[in-house]
Amino acid sequence: MKDLIRKSVQELHGYVPGEQMADDGIIKLNTNENPYPPAPGVESALRGIDVDSLRRYPNPVSAALLERIAEMHGYAASQVFVGNGSDEVLALCTRAFVEDGGTIGYFDPSYSLYPVLADIRDVDRKPVPLGDDFGWAMPECYGADLFFLTSPNAPTGMLYPKSVIRDFCRGFEGVVVIDEAYVDFASENCMELAGEFDNVLIARSLSKSYSLAGLRVGYAVGPEPLVEALVKLKDSYNLDAVSQALALAALQDVDYMKANVARIRGTRDRLSVALEEKGYTVYPSETNFVWVRPRGIEARELFAELKARRILVRHFEGDRTGEFIRITVGSDAEIDKLLECITMVCK
Ligand code: PMP
Repeated sequence: MKDLIRKSVQELHGYVPGEQMADDGIIKLNTNENPYPPAPGVESALRGIDVDSLRRYPNPVSAALLERIAEMHGYAASQVFVGNGSDEVLALCTRAFVEDGGTIGYFDPSYSLYPVLADIRDVDRKPVPLGDDFGWAMPECYGADLFFLTSPNAPTGMLYPKSVIRDFCRGFEGVVVIDEAYVDFASENCMELAGEFDNVLIARSLSKSYSLAGLRVGYAVGPEPLVEALVKLKDSYNLDAVSQALALAALQDVDYMKANVARIRGTRDRLSVALEEKGYTVYPSETNFVWVRPRGIEARELFAELKARRILVRHFEGDRTGEFIRITVGSDAEIDKLLECITMVCK
């Protein structure tokens, strides 16, 4: 009998997102969502939507959003691509920039979607193992068709220096997508590289710093030919009308986003110090999460003990990651509760 499903799809291990529990009582520190609501303008924009207008198709390229993003970063609208979450942007890059039989590179460990995207595209994975302390480690003469360079990296939270990234982009022959999903929480960013090279795209997300994970909006900025390639491949109307209107409202209030980011960074630093005082190894985070190696308890066990107390954090099985847990920086009250539970569990 003919196989109905492609062999590579039968064998594919799909991406496993962090748990989303339908339980209000849970303290959710497992998927790097923002503990604070989106900007007030987002709610007004939502209330202002005329339901009748949904009869019509949305703007196919999210034109108003392109203009706003271009203005924010000092580029032309033709250098911006908007996607249904930055995940869509990343997936389209694998379709646009990698030939059949080609290769996709990324750091190991990094965002666990990248190897899945390589498998979906049915091309070779070419991971680059990070150094012992998860620092930058690029072999001489490394090549791939596409490299996902995550800075700050996930799940480690660490930022790579811009000078190092610039040198890498200069020597790399394929396309470099600098995934800056968490960069609003960091001390520097690489947006200027989008204008310096013909092979570099910067990918951003509204899911974290703008508190809009549920809306699904992300974007990429870079050279026009790369942006045009993504436009050719996208769904005709990849962003619905509601997402376009609400994302625009969020991006019109950057000050609100920055104030939330400042609060989260404050909580992050407090959490890091408190965990260090317990003897945990805490990696220097430039994101809204911390990557820690617990002391006196196995990571897997700590994960389970916290879950039993209705606190969800993230534990990734695997050689490089199994000894660590990743904790999203929640509100101050949530972090107090977490620290209280850790003290109880580790007594
Ligand atoms: N890049 C990284 C490094 C991430 O951790 C995430 C979130 N899981 C994304 C991209 C995707 O973000 P979005 O919600 O915009 O699809």
